[in-house]
Amino acid sequence: MVAVRINGLSKTFGRRKKALKNVSVTLSEGEMVALIGASGSGKSTLIRHIAGLVPGDRGSGPIQVFGATVQKNGRVSKGARNHRRDIGVVFQQFNLVGRLSVLTNVLTGVLGCAPAWRTLIGLFTGTEKSAAMAALDRVGIADHAGQRASTLSGGQQQRAAIARTILQGARLILADEPIASLDPASSRKVMDNLARVNRDDGVTVLVSLHQVDYAVKYCPRTIAMRDGEIVFDGPSAELTPARLREFYGADSIELAAPRDKETAPVREVAVARAASKLPDDPGLAVATG
Ligand code: ADP
Ligand code: MG
Repeated sequence: MVAVRINGLSKTFGRRKKALKNVSVTLSEGEMVALIGASGSGKSTLIRHIAGLVPGDRGSGPIQVFGATVQKNGRVSKGARNHRRDIGVVFQQFNLVGRLSVLTNVLTGVLGCAPAWRTLIGLFTGTEKSAAMAALDRVGIADHAGQRASTLSGGQQQRAAIARTILQGARLILADEPIASLDPASSRKVMDNLARVNRDDGVTVLVSLHQVDYAVKYCPRTIAMRDGEIVFDGPSAELTPARLREFYGADSIELAAPRDKETAPVREVAVARAASKLPDDPGLAVATG
């Protein structure tokens, strides 16, 4: 089954900022796909369009998620609220309401089918609460259920956001740079959890990443964007430093630069280092031998 189908989507901000230029993409159900590209290449804009949060240009491509039209011809569909339930979104930050408990934040995932006032008065059924605890347990933070969300580390907050998509029953997770502000160990935990939900539940995952090493490690397929266009869509393993240089020129150094010493293939470290002509980083030298 097709999870996401985008046909000729364009988005112009203001008079002439073309953030997306005739983008067409199909994701099959059960795929885990990375979306890479330098800042400003259009990753967030594309994700927000798939989520039905912003309309594309008039006359530009329809977006369907599991066969239902999220938007077309510059209009978000009226029924979008129904299929939003299928779509779980994880943002770089501001995922959770800091003053509410972790458990309550996760429970808001059931609101796709429950009235919003129920959160306000904390009225959730026992079944919903145990499902929320089970989701927190799956992402490894059940111990923190009663804490205010603001007291969690960044990585734990992202895992709570993933738990919320689990409770929601999302069939598609759109994660917009979920690890951009995390250290390597927390980044791996977040990516491991996304990968597990993908593998165990068959949830389709589209995750935007600023660095290629995580794409190669976690996602069989990568879509690479530049200036609102897709410049590569294929096996992540083909994204060698040379290919990246072809697509991104000088920007490739930033994308290829491994942030995680465990994830980065040794070869990429060496090539990125040579390309940037930086003096050897002793930290990297130790980690990569
Ligand atoms: P990325 O997520 O890859 O960093 P974005 O999708 O955020 O890129 O942005 C793509 C382009 O669209 C950038 O040039 C950005 O400045 C522009 N853009 C994004 N959102 C808006 C907006 N609301 N108004 C005007 N320009 C925007
Ligand atoms: Mg972005």
